Amino acid sequence: MIQKVLVVGSGSAGLIAALSLKKKIPRLEVKIVRDPDLGVIGVGEGTTPNFPTHLFDYLGISRGEFYRRAEPTWKLGIRFDWGPRGRFDYTFGRQLDSHWPGLERPVGFYCDDEFSHVDLPAALMREDKVFLRQANGCPDIQPWHAFHIENEKFVEVLESYAAEWGVEITDGKLVSTEQDATGITALVLGDGRRLEADFFVDASGFRSELMGRALEEPFEPFDKTLFCDRAVVGGWERTREPILPYTTAEQMDVGWCWRIEHEHRINRGYVYCSDMISDEEAAAEFRRKNPKAPESPRVVRFRSGAYQRMWVKNVVAIGNAAGFVEPLEATALMVVCSHSRTLIDFLLHCELEPTPSMVALYNEQASEGWKDIRDFLGLHYQLNTAGKTDFWRRCREETDLSGIASLLEFYRENGPTGFCRYRTGRTNSDFGIEGYLVMLVGQQAPYEKRHPATPEETTLWRQRREQLAKAASGGLTVAEALAYIRHPAWEWHGDSRRKAG
Ligand SMILES: Cc1cc2nc3c(=O)[nH]c(=O)nc-3n(C[C@H](O)[C@H](O)[C@H](O)COP(=O)(O)OP(=O)(O)OC[C@H]3O[C@@H](n4cnc5c(N)ncnc54)[C@H](O)[C@@H]3O)c2cc1C
Repeated sequence: MIQKVLVVGSGSAGLIAALSLKKKIPRLEVKIVRDPDLGVIGVGEGTTPNFPTHLFDYLGISRGEFYRRAEPTWKLGIRFDWGPRGRFDYTFGRQLDSHWPGLERPVGFYCDDEFSHVDLPAALMREDKVFLRQANGCPDIQPWHAFHIENEKFVEVLESYAAEWGVEITDGKLVSTEQDATGITALVLGDGRRLEADFFVDASGFRSELMGRALEEPFEPFDKTLFCDRAVVGGWERTREPILPYTTAEQMDVGWCWRIEHEHRINRGYVYCSDMISDEEAAAEFRRKNPKAPESPRVVRFRSGAYQRMWVKNVVAIGNAAGFVEPLEATALMVVCSHSRTLIDFLLHCELEPTPSMVALYNEQASEGWKDIRDFLGLHYQLNTAGKTDFWRRCREETDLSGIASLLEFYRENGPTGFCRYRTGRTNSDFGIEGYLVMLVGQQAPYEKRHPATPEETTLWRQRREQLAKAASGGLTVAEALAYIRHPAWEWHGDSRRKAG
C-alpha cells in the first residue's frame, strides 16, 4: 500500500500535485525534492476555468487569501487577432452551442457577417469589461472566468501552502535512481543523500528525470500537427495601458504572439517554428510589433508531445515532465489540475494499491486527453486562410488532423450544429464542442447546409446582440473590479461575491 509519496520538482505541476494529494489523502506522507539552481520555468500565465475551480472548490483554498497573495487578474477568454475575420473572441461561456428563442437554427448559423456579442462573456470582452455591475455597484463575479497569473509568484504562494499543509520541501539535485522490478525505490541526490518512497511523482519539467530519463518511456512527438517549438518571451511594466480581461493571440509571420495581462505587467511572447525562422529573426519581428519588449528577449525551447504512458510502475509524471503542447490555449495548468484529480480518484478507488488495469486506464485517458488538445490546437492553424507566409501555407497543407477527420467532414456537410459533439473525441477538456465550433465559425470554415436568415430572424439577431452590448458596456473594467475585491468590506462567498454592509 502506498504510504510515502515523493514529488520531484516544485514548479506549479509538482506543487499542485503534492498539495492535491495531501489535501485529499491526508494519511499520505507527501514530500517534494527540488533543485533550486534549476528553478522553475517562469512562463505559464494563462489558465482555463478549471484552474480557479481546482484551487478554491477542490483544494478549499480561500479566495480572499489567494487573491491577496497571488494577485491574479481575470481572463474571460482569448481574443484571436487571427484568420479571415481579422478578429474573433473565444470565451469560456456558451457562444455557439446554443439556440436562441425565435431563431430556427443554433447561433453559429447567423455568424457569417458578424461574430461578436453572442453571449455575455463575449459581449464583455468586446467592451473591455470583465463583469456586470450589480444594483449596489459591485462586480457580479461569475464562475466562467479563468486567471492570468505570474508563474514565479504563483509558485511562491503554493510553497507557502505546502509549509502550512505539512508538505516538506527538500533542496537537492536528483542525480540517479535506484530501481527494482516494481519501479523506483530511492532517489540519489548530488550530495549522496538517498530519499526513499513507495510512490513517485515526476514533476521535473521538460527534464522528465524519472519518466523520460530513469524509466526511458518513449516520447510521442506531436510534430505532424503542431509545428512550433520555440518562443521568444519578454514583457514590460504596465504604464497607462488598460488591463484587458482576456489573453490576446495575434497571428505572426511564423506563428503567433501572446499578450497576457497582469496587473502591473504586460507579458508577451512569440511562439514560432524554428525550422522556418531563426531566433534572431523571430526576436526582430517580435520587437517590431512590440517596441516596448526587451532588446534581447529570452528564448524558450519546447517540444509538443507526450510520453506514451504517464504512469509506469510506481511513477506518475505530471506537468511538463509528462507532456506539453504549445501554449496557444494555455492548457498546461488545466491538464496538471485534471491529471492530479484523476490520479487521486484512481488512488482512492484502488485503496492505495493500484491495479494494472487501473494504471492502464489512467494512461489511456491521459493520452487521449493530450491528443484531443493536439487536434484542437492543430485546427487553429489549419483553418487560418489569412496567413500568407510559407509557414501558414504549410499549416494549411500539412497539419495532420486525421484525429478529427470525421468531425471536419460532419461540419462540412452540416455546419455549426451541436450534433458535431458526437464526432469529436474526448470532450472533457475545458473546450469541448464549444471550442471546436468557435474555431470553425471564427475562421469561417466553409459548410454546405447554410441557413439564410429570414428578415424576422435578422431583426431578432441584431436586437439580442445590441442588448448584450448595452448590458456589457455598463460593466466594470478589471481595474474597477480589483478595487472592489480589495475593499476591506469585501467578502467572498462561493463563486459569487457579496459585499458586507
Ligand atoms: C513558452 C511557454 C509558454 C507557456 N504558457 C503557459 C500558459 O499560458 N498557461 C499554462 O497553463 N502553461 C503554460 N506553459 C506551461 C507551464 O509553464 C508549465 O506547464 C507549468 O508551469 C508547469 O511546469 P512544471 O512544474 O511542469 O515545470 P517547471 O516549472 O520547469 O518545474 C520543474 C521543477 O523540477 C525541478 N527539477 C528538475 N530537475 C531536477 C533534478 N534533477 N533534481 C531536483 N529537482 C529538479 C526544478 O527545480 C523545478 O522545481 C507555458 C510553457 C512554455 C514553454
